Amino acid sequence: MTTPLPPTTPRNGRVYNFSAGPAQMPESVLEQLQREIMDLDGTGIGLLEHSHRGPSYDRLLTEAYDSVRRASGLGADWEVLFLPGGSMQHFSLIAMNFIPKDGFAAFADTGLWAHKGEIETRAVRNTRTVFDGASCRFDHVPADNEIADCTGASYFCYCSNNTVEGTQFARPPKVNAPLVCDATSDLFSREYALDAHELIFASGQKNLGASGISLILVKKSFLAKADASLPGLLSYANFAKADSRPNTPPTFGVRVIGLMSKWIADHGGPKVFAVLNAKKAANIYAAIDRSNGFYRPSMRDDCRSQMSISFQLPSDALVDAFVAESEKAGLFGLRGHRDWGGIRACVYNAFPAHGSELLAEFMDDFKKKQA
Ligand SMILES: *Cc1c(COP(=O)(O)O)cnc(C)c1O
Repeated sequence: MTTPLPPTTPRNGRVYNFSAGPAQMPESVLEQLQREIMDLDGTGIGLLEHSHRGPSYDRLLTEAYDSVRRASGLGADWEVLFLPGGSMQHFSLIAMNFIPKDGFAAFADTGLWAHKGEIETRAVRNTRTVFDGASCRFDHVPADNEIADCTGASYFCYCSNNTVEGTQFARPPKVNAPLVCDATSDLFSREYALDAHELIFASGQKNLGASGISLILVKKSFLAKADASLPGLLSYANFAKADSRPNTPPTFGVRVIGLMSKWIADHGGPKVFAVLNAKKAANIYAAIDRSNGFYRPSMRDDCRSQMSISFQLPSDALVDAFVAESEKAGLFGLRGHRDWGGIRACVYNAFPAHGSELLAEFMDDFKKKQA
């Protein structure tokens, strides 16, 4: 059963938060967490206080797995794992698990996170850059024929949404290596061929709520090839065997990802959110497009992200003024990434549609005032 998403405006003194992450969450989820922190299911024990081996946590964990499976649509040939730590941890972990000592991973360098991910990978294994986005100033993600041959690679790693630069793959690339995807900033935000991959990872704080925890989706057949000699806490296979709790897991984070995935699935899943997110993004891109070059996106039109809308202004002083004035208008978190500058508006699943309309109006007004 799908419940339509209610039109939301922030209540209780809350604001529109365009932050890239940690990011805005649905109030219904926050309110449920608030209740559960005091008392989970009438047990007299709160969410943060329940044993990770007790029946209440068993239930939360089962519910989290089920909700992730509902939101993802993935079948029984996939393993769902929760691991402590953010997305960045996984670049080296995936390398240790899936690249033999003399092997390598192929990387598409499409922006800051992909770049950092390749550096993390290189700390433990070799990599080969098969697409170098620096040469086009990261203005697009590669078409298949722009990606060099991946023969011999243990996997090809790419970032589906480049959160900083504001570019996004329309579909998984077709390359001759197993696909590994950093989907941290767009997982469950649209219909995407997850099944084309062997492993997908995302930390929580963008579309899934809590930071410091990651959701890993991995094909069982791929997991079977992992290095079995790793220390248990670095081994995905061990996490699978131990039900994502080889030691004390981040129980709160698992609950948050569970509730966020349930919220996404209950409201129609990625298919429904794709439509809502496209509308939110379109409102903001329209304001960019009618600004006669005042707002300057750096990406090609055909690679525009539906999640993180990034653009520059004519000067740093104008960026500062834009941020200051937008906050007065109740629009927060708009300053671009510190390495990229400009403005960035993230409109993840939980970001209310009306906020994107208000931002577009604000952009029109702000531009008019500078004329
Ligand atoms: C935010 C982000 C990261 C970093 O996530 P951490 O949880 O801070 O490690 C990695 N990749 C992408 C695509 C991101 O958007």
